[in-house]
Amino acid sequence: MTAPSAQETAPTPDVPAEQTDGYHLVVDALKLNDVETIYGVVGIPITDLARLAQAEGIRYIGFRHESNAGHAAAIAGYLTKKPGVCLTVSAPGFLNGLVALANATTNCFPMVQISGSSERHVVDLKQGDYEEMDQLAAAQQFCKAAYRVSRVEDIGRGIARALRTAISGRPGGVYLDIPAAVLGSIMDAEAGAKTLSRLVDPAPRQLPAPEAVDRAIEVLATAERPLVVLGKGAAYAQADDQIREFIESTGIPYVPMSMAKGLLPDDHPQSAATARSLALKKADVVMLVGARLNWLLNHGQAPQWNPDAKFVQVDIEPTEMDSNQPIAAPLVGDIESVFEALAERTKPGQIAAPTAWREELAARSAQNVAKMAERLKADKHPMQFMGALKAIRDVVHERPETYIVNEGANALDLARNVIDMHVPRHRLDSGTWGVMGIGMGYAIAAAVETGDPVVAVEGDSAFGFSGMELETICRYNLPVVTVIMNNGGVYRGDDVNPLGDAPAPTALMIEARHDKMIEAFGGKGYRATTPAEVTAALTEALASGGPALIDCVIDPSAGTESGNIGHLNPKGIGLTKKK
Ligand code: ADP
Repeated sequence: MTAPSAQETAPTPDVPAEQTDGYHLVVDALKLNDVETIYGVVGIPITDLARLAQAEGIRYIGFRHESNAGHAAAIAGYLTKKPGVCLTVSAPGFLNGLVALANATTNCFPMVQISGSSERHVVDLKQGDYEEMDQLAAAQQFCKAAYRVSRVEDIGRGIARALRTAISGRPGGVYLDIPAAVLGSIMDAEAGAKTLSRLVDPAPRQLPAPEAVDRAIEVLATAERPLVVLGKGAAYAQADDQIREFIESTGIPYVPMSMAKGLLPDDHPQSAATARSLALKKADVVMLVGARLNWLLNHGQAPQWNPDAKFVQVDIEPTEMDSNQPIAAPLVGDIESVFEALAERTKPGQIAAPTAWREELAARSAQNVAKMAERLKADKHPMQFMGALKAIRDVVHERPETYIVNEGANALDLARNVIDMHVPRHRLDSGTWGVMGIGMGYAIAAAVETGDPVVAVEGDSAFGFSGMELETICRYNLPVVTVIMNNGGVYRGDDVNPLGDAPAPTALMIEARHDKMIEAFGGKGYRATTPAEVTAALTEALASGGPALIDCVIDPSAGTESGNIGHLNPKGIGLTKKK
């Protein structure tokens, strides 16, 4: 069958009942596979696709920039364990969305980016089409898999394949290219319906081998100073009860990675989060659960880690094993199945964390908690990060269902430590790349998917990457309170240009009024200069249940360059060249 050109194919709503087309088949295939929400930005050639999806009962959330729509789809995938779907236009819109698709893949979030694309034959001969680009080729290296549907009768297959690839095994981002001509192609409706299929068991359980389970039990049973590291894979797996049961029955202390905070409540007696350095340095057997030994864990190397530590790793991805350190006991499988197998095969009392080790960590935790309490007590003026964050923490404590979205440098590092979490999957942050720009996309999706309140704690610089989505938040009247740590700069607000008046590279407008931005869209803006004002504003904003923004005026000299990871800046010989 020859695909008609875009000019020949009128948008679809008026096709006769016995016919269907690409637009309808895409929507039918998504509905058949329980896709309830699409995050996107419309334009040629997918505007009618969004309209039709909405008319057919799929919720469509329209954004102002594709990266933000993509981040929303990605975190929706993480929260629901179903692929989040993002819809983009050709070439530039596609590329904007690709940032989020790559970030989703890096973070192991299930997501599908569906993008319209221009005329294949014109693109392939590089004849200069409207938004010409070989999008399939461009996407390949940035996602788990990329597919193109070239015939209308393959739409059902393409969508089924994309959804299954995103969600099965290690989750990730999948690109699905649908050229305009395919969307506009018409075919017999009955034949079209037969091309669609509903996925059976899209994310099959992956059971660990019994001998692998026994090996892990043996390693853990010999440990004198065992430690569990919970990563966001553990949170994603939604095996909360099984994980908790294992930790509590063995008594093994655990350290949560940032997005695993709340999987067990942060005030759990076995949490070693506040004795993290000591735990890593001394643990002799470390069980990684849905956590990779990447830069965030110093690759498992000394001096942060005990050089003689043995690792047990629970992960769905077999090639993750040995990526950084030799893994003494690989446990390849889905986390729920692995923990069920561990519970079945461990003899009562066989794995038990020695009391001396637990007491050592508890003592260090108590010291560190006391130090932190001292730091939080100081109510300095102008307001410091700690003052504002303590106020946020105390308000959010009262409402544990609140989602925390968090990005920035100092705003990220400090909020992660100050705001403790009590519910699984309620902390959403910059993740594996340490990326800026996820803020409003994550906040919108958390509110849309759950209906619960969201507090987005944003560095003023980080907020800038997605700030225009305040309009989206207001348009959909979402319960999102954006709290900006406004110290007037990237890292800090007091950098100066030694040669003149032009702003220094890290400078932002010190007098910026982000609270005025949300007022432009009908949301409620607050400006807070003291922790008491932060408390009052956040309490009122959360009670209102509507969109709000609190601009927290923070001391411009507060904050450190690159936050906790300043050491990643290459040193060189310094900024002034030595003679
Ligand atoms: P963190 O940054 O919190 O340490 P990572 O993103 O580095 O977490 O690691 C998440 C890991 O979890 C990935 O290696 C991924 O393969 C794994 N994972 C994701 N889902 C599951 C699952 N259901 N079962 C087992 N492992 C999983």
